[in-house]
Amino acid sequence: MTFTVAIVGRPNVGKSTLFNRLIGRKLAIVHDQPGITRDRRDGDASLLGLDFRVVDTAGFEDETDDSIEARMRRQTDRAVADADVALLLIDARAGVTPLDRHFADHLRRQRTPVILVANKCEGKAGAPGLYECYALGLGEPVPVSAEHGEGLLELFEALLPHA
Ligand code: GDP
Ligand code: MG
Repeated sequence: MTFTVAIVGRPNVGKSTLFNRLIGRKLAIVHDQPGITRDRRDGDASLLGLDFRVVDTAGFEDETDDSIEARMRRQTDRAVADADVALLLIDARAGVTPLDRHFADHLRRQRTPVILVANKCEGKAGAPGLYECYALGLGEPVPVSAEHGEGLLELFEALLPHA
């Protein structure tokens, strides 16, 4: 059985950046899944020897009249239901937003375990957001910088118990 990790969160928190970081040079393996979720991307990731399938969730391209929240929730639900663990990304520089809280509240009700990941934590600008994260009730956040490749050891350590 393949260990599957879904990356979820509101737009612009760095989901695709982390996805690209995790799949590294294996970009060619990335494929769309037409018909299921048009803007969902799957890839084979390897992190310090731990191999897993990673799923990036993204846009709001299904053309319905639903609210953005409803569409995001649906896409997230599909990816999360299929995953062994979900990474909920937060932008630590922006701090915790109402939409982040919406995601956290929703994910806490799912059966899939959630790891809270505070992205954009390079330098010091992420510190206030990192502490705000604790209030989401999803445990200790894992500080990372997807863009700079920082915090990957900590992310590995957080994933390992679920693999
Ligand atoms: P998504 O909408 O959640 O998939 O977010 P993207 O991966 O498209 O990233 C949104 C923006 O955040 C882009 O401008 C990225 O360059 C930026 N970004 C992603 N990761 C980091 C990070 O670790 N640090 C900083 N400072 N910016 C980041
Ligand atoms: Mg994206």
